[in-house]
Amino acid sequence: MKIEVLEKNEANLRLTIRDVDVPSMNALRRIALAEVPSMAIDEVVMIENSSILQDEIISHRLGLTPLKTDLDSYNLPEDCSCKSEFGCSLCRVTLTLDAEAKEGTRIVYSGELVSENPGIVPVSDRIPIIKMAKGQKLKLEAYARLGKGKNHAKWQPVSMCAYKYFPKITVASKICEDCTKCVDICPKKVLGMKGNKVEVRDLLACNLCMDCVEACPQESKGIKVEWEKNAFILNIESTGVLPPERILREATKILDKQLKEFEEQVKVEEK
Ligand SMILES: [Zn+2]
Repeated sequence: MKIEVLEKNEANLRLTIRDVDVPSMNALRRIALAEVPSMAIDEVVMIENSSILQDEIISHRLGLTPLKTDLDSYNLPEDCSCKSEFGCSLCRVTLTLDAEAKEGTRIVYSGELVSENPGIVPVSDRIPIIKMAKGQKLKLEAYARLGKGKNHAKWQPVSMCAYKYFPKITVASKICEDCTKCVDICPKKVLGMKGNKVEVRDLLACNLCMDCVEACPQESKGIKVEWEKNAFILNIESTGVLPPERILREATKILDKQLKEFEEQVKVEEK
């Protein structure tokens, strides 16, 4: 397997992966979405709520607030040695909120949540939780736990995880009459003109929509769009809870573990 990093920053990771098949790519994608754990608020104890929103709606909004995750220090509740429904310091983080609209109408933002662990805080301080009118109060205690996206979307560490085939575009200079129709129609601006010849400018942007091939007035098509077999472009966009490369690494670890479990299971069945 050959891997090349195309783009990497805090939230986004784009790679080309060669010599791999569709099932493996899809397994990685699905595991990144549904199996890689992340931290989210799972239980809220309302102490005071005189706002116009019901407790349930506020709890739901808190649950969907992405929290920075520390996979090395915390356990999934089901794997924790405490075996307690309530949780312990290794499987639960407490956050508190005590907000009051003293001066007038105001918005309470995620940054007002106070966490017992300064490492487990909302990804952004500017996520609105509630708007309160003068005199209204909101006081609560919230418990965050690790969980998996397959149980609730709030535990999904990625906002997007997708792959596409690696495109291959050839311009047949003998057939192409440089009418620029393919250049104009491409929504991704993959093609451009060099002098009066059509050239490929941004190959990786191609999403194989085939509009350029359809637009070509030549009967035997002056442009050919194909894809490389067993080569993919993978894009992982994190919600900010974990760096995207960590999500990918965790996904490969989980896939490995699942395959080993499968192998063991087959051995047991064979006996
Ligand atoms: Zn525990």
